[in-house]
Amino acid sequence: MENSKVIRHLDPRRWEGVSVLDYKEEGQHFQSITRQVLFDGETDFPCQVRYFEIDEGGHSTLERHQHVHVVMIIRGRGRVLLNDRVEEVKEFDLVTIPPQNWHQFRATEGTPLGFLCLVNVERDRPVLPGEEDLEMLRADPDIAGFIRF
Ligand code: MN
Repeated sequence: MENSKVIRHLDPRRWEGVSVLDYKEEGQHFQSITRQVLFDGETDFPCQVRYFEIDEGGHSTLERHQHVHVVMIIRGRGRVLLNDRVEEVKEFDLVTIPPQNWHQFRATEGTPLGFLCLVNVERDRPVLPGEEDLEMLRADPDIAGFIRF
C-alpha cells in the first residue's frame, strides 16, 4: 500500500519536488508553454494530472485525438478553441474536451494561463490539422483569427 501524500504548492507556478518539463519533446506547433506531472497514475487508476502554463502570448498545439481532456483553469485567463467556436476562460472554469474535438489554448489577456489537465495514462497520439482541416476551421472568421499553426 502506498502512502498518502501532499505535494506542497510553492509559488504560483511550482510544486515541491515536481520538475518543470518541456510541453512536448518535439515540434514547432506550440509556444511558451511548460508541463508538470503532479500525478502519474496508479494500478486501477490509470490517469495523469498535469499542470500546464502558457506565458502571455503563447499557445498550445492545435490538435485533436481520441482521448478526453478534463481541464480546470487555475491561473490567469485566456481563450480556447473548442472544435467549432472560441471561448473565453478564466480561473476555475472547467473545460471538457471530448474525443476528436479540435482544441487550442492561448494566453491572450495580459496574463499567463495555467491549467490542470486530467488524461488517461494510455492515450493515442494527437493529430495535427491537414490543409483540408485548416480550410474547414478557417471558414469561421473567429477561428481563423484565433488559431496558430
Ligand atoms: Mn490535446
